[in-house]
Amino acid sequence: MIRDPKEVSSELIEIFLPTIVTIFYTTCLRVRQQLKNMEILILMLVLWYVGLFFQTFFLHRYAAHQSFTMSKFGEKICFIGTWIFQGSNYLSAYGYGIMHRMHHAYADTEKDVHSPKYDKSLFSMMWRTKTIYSSITNKEVEGIEERFTKDVPEWHWFDKFARSWVSRIGWGVFYTWFFYTYATAWWQWLALPIAFLMAPIHGAIINWFAHIYGYVNYKVGDTSKNMLPVDFLMMGESYHNNHHKHGNRANFGGVRWHEIDPTYVIMWVLDKLGMIHIKRLEVSVKREGLKKAA
Ligand SMILES: [Zn+2]
Ligand SMILES: [Zn+2]
Repeated sequence: MIRDPKEVSSELIEIFLPTIVTIFYTTCLRVRQQLKNMEILILMLVLWYVGLFFQTFFLHRYAAHQSFTMSKFGEKICFIGTWIFQGSNYLSAYGYGIMHRMHHAYADTEKDVHSPKYDKSLFSMMWRTKTIYSSITNKEVEGIEERFTKDVPEWHWFDKFARSWVSRIGWGVFYTWFFYTYATAWWQWLALPIAFLMAPIHGAIINWFAHIYGYVNYKVGDTSKNMLPVDFLMMGESYHNNHHKHGNRANFGGVRWHEIDPTYVIMWVLDKLGMIHIKRLEVSVKREGLKKAA
């Protein structure tokens, strides 16, 4: 007897659908069980990596270096993403973009906005950076050259809101509530100050350590180094010597085989999906020789 294919498929659905739903449901429960007591770790990982993604993708590669283009709508999404994931320590694309262009123009000279060569300690450098950044963002610095301000994205009212104390304290209260709700041991509270200050910490790691420790692919006129051979920590930012050599190149890695830049991988996908357009630069990425760092 030949059975109607429709009948067969409805029978199969009747058998398989509940099985699939049950497997999915029990898997979800298991994952939830596994992740129990890991909430603080998950929050810190999200703030670290997603916050860092918006810093390197939007503030650094887009606002400062314009290594790719995107629509005004895409820009707005990035402003909002930066606010959500940098939270209490939101950085303005305008202030960051201008200050960072100055860093490249004056790297490791007396005019550099942050340099381990001229700042006595990591903390004095962080404080000086914060002061310069605030005065640029608040537009208190007059006579900034056009090359530093040209086409830096700005969303004035949103920036004002995201930098306000209401927003900063609001995020701070949220982090504290999260820790209060999910911390299971006293030592987990030690991570709370890191949550408050994540973006300046990210900045300091690169601006200080990637100008002291690491290896070089290029002889450049500053102290920039590739801090990690495989960047699992800084979303590609740690290939800092490559970046100082080719400032406007979207890919910070790719000079040596192991230099994989996670942010560039995401950018490549976004470019293929037509959401951004990476500017292709005709630069030779051949390294000039390996030197051990100081
Ligand atoms: Zn640098
Ligand atoms: Zn840069």
